[in-house]
Amino acid sequence: MFVLVASLKPHRTQGIEMTMPVPLDCLNCGVCCFSKSATYVRVSGDDWARLGEDAESWARFVGQRAYLRMKGGHCLALEITTRRGQLPVFFCAIYEKRPQICRDLGRGSPECKGELETKAQRVADAHGG
Ligand code: SF4
Ligand code: SF4
Repeated sequence: MFVLVASLKPHRTQGIEMTMPVPLDCLNCGVCCFSKSATYVRVSGDDWARLGEDAESWARFVGQRAYLRMKGGHCLALEITTRRGQLPVFFCAIYEKRPQICRDLGRGSPECKGELETKAQRVADAHGG
């Protein structure tokens, strides 16, 4: 996933909710890194190997399957920087080593738009935007 963008909040025209705009850069979005589920980001064997010796810091097993650890309603690897008067920045601390499922979710894809429609307002309410 991942230049500064306009507000994450959906456009409204005369009270009618419009489609959520796709941000110009994932750094000012991060929406698809948020979930209340503890088993949100699947980590395959290849993903685990790519994480290297840090794998256990970022991921854990639930039963027979591994997932990225979650904290505060988002992936543990998501670093959120907020500065007064500026939009928050959402940074993936393991970007080069992120799991394949994250690599496959392209900005502007149907999956991305689905994430924005279902979660962007919640993220904006919690973290500004
Ligand atoms: S929801 Fe879409 S625009 Fe937002 S971070 Fe994910 S891929 Fe990027
Ligand atoms: S690994 Fe990076 S891109 Fe994937 S969910 Fe976590 S913070 Fe987002």
